[in-house]
Amino acid sequence: MSDSVRVRFAPSPTGKLHIGGARTAIYNWAFARANGGTFILRIDDTDPTRSTDENTQIILRAMRWLGLDWDEGPEVGGDFGPYSQTERLDLYKQTAERLLAEGKAYPCFCTPEQLAADREAAQARKDPFQGYQRRCRDLSPEEAQARIDAGEPYVLRIKVPEDRGNVVIDDAVHGKVVFDAKELDDFVIFRSDGTPTYNFATVVDDALMGITHVIRGDDHLSNTPRQVMVYEAMGAPVPTFAHISMILGADGKKLSKRHGATSVEEYRDAGYLSDAFVNYLALLGWSLDGETTVIPRDVLAGKFSLERISKNPATFDPKKLDWMNAEYINAMDDKTFADEIMLPQLIEAGLVGEGFEADEAWVDALAGIVRPRTKMPADAAAVAAPVFKTAQTLEYDEKSVAKGLAKEGMGAVLDAAKSALEAVAAQDWTAANIDAALEPLPEALDVKKRLVFGAVRVAECGNMVSPPLGETMALIGRDDCLARIDRARPMAL
Ligand code: GLU
Repeated sequence: MSDSVRVRFAPSPTGKLHIGGARTAIYNWAFARANGGTFILRIDDTDPTRSTDENTQIILRAMRWLGLDWDEGPEVGGDFGPYSQTERLDLYKQTAERLLAEGKAYPCFCTPEQLAADREAAQARKDPFQGYQRRCRDLSPEEAQARIDAGEPYVLRIKVPEDRGNVVIDDAVHGKVVFDAKELDDFVIFRSDGTPTYNFATVVDDALMGITHVIRGDDHLSNTPRQVMVYEAMGAPVPTFAHISMILGADGKKLSKRHGATSVEEYRDAGYLSDAFVNYLALLGWSLDGETTVIPRDVLAGKFSLERISKNPATFDPKKLDWMNAEYINAMDDKTFADEIMLPQLIEAGLVGEGFEADEAWVDALAGIVRPRTKMPADAAAVAAPVFKTAQTLEYDEKSVAKGLAKEGMGAVLDAAKSALEAVAAQDWTAANIDAALEPLPEALDVKKRLVFGAVRVAECGNMVSPPLGETMALIGRDDCLARIDRARPMAL
């Protein structure tokens, strides 16, 4: 147990789960899975003014949608709970009391005015040490207790050992990072209102929960030396830190709302597949081998390593995410695509009713031509729409009509196409036979192939971008295909 990997993702429920947090969660999850370890979800809700239960619920939902199952945490429990910081106040208090009793922390009564005056004075005399000037560090326990008893407000500060020296962190991503001892002051671990500070609560939790690796955003790197002080004061082993780089937008600035959707749920609602989304986010700062881009979840969970996390900031590229999404859709088999994407989208678009049923081979054939043209789920309905219309209800796209039909000679093309198609008997109405019937027309009419097929395509589908013609027409059916040519004929010249 002691040497098995334990990692945590510790979001603050002050907002939704965003792309950066999701990537941190993915790395922690994958690292735990790759090492047969334990992935813990902890809710860092110590900021009562900004944390809400609603945000916690949104985060849990987003985690489930991402497929990042946690072994300990809210809703699943575990031996190291509770898993919300607001429920752990007693543990922070007990730890602080122990540090007080051991002389590793002390009460400080300095007023904000006193602290400000000390800071100014330190600046004025260019003191290399600009932190808390340690006024209360050497108060006798009796005096301190008397002032507490008299009701004076106080905070608790950690006592950084005089001779501590520089703090060196061997970060798994950044390598050796040295923090000058001068930057370490006796910082506050408990505020005067009785609440613990982030740097204290986090370390108490990480230590008591037996966290072995802290994988988090490098905006927390500067907190790390202070956190190391708390581990040392507690006599707890310091975990391995891995601080991962920021995610940037295309303009090189930190990813934010300005760059478009940032919350996980916005991506879910836009139709991205969870697997594709996780794969894409995993690659923002990590690589399997520097080349492979499509990395299914089980490979990620088997092969993830801290060694392959990059130091450099990664750039979020929505186009690459779209590409990844299309890759995952295209890799589905026809049945999965039909059930999970195409049919729900057809229902959503009102092209078929809830109880839609059709011959399985017909649905598979439709899925087979729609899938390669679907980058986002909603594309499926647009691509398949002509098949679900009739000669009466088909809509003709104006631009396609102008480009494909309303041209000299296209009337003759439609007439010839209709005769050729009429020659295909109902029982022979297959993609291969339809293609074979249309095949000789360009030569016979001396019209470019592109123009012939363009005209028939617009007549049958109402647009120029529909799936392969023969296959689509086979799905539409013979009678309706012929009727569509009749309907389109007056638009052709
Ligand atoms: N609640 C902190 C955050 O959301 C966690 C930081 C940490 O991982 O230590 O930034």
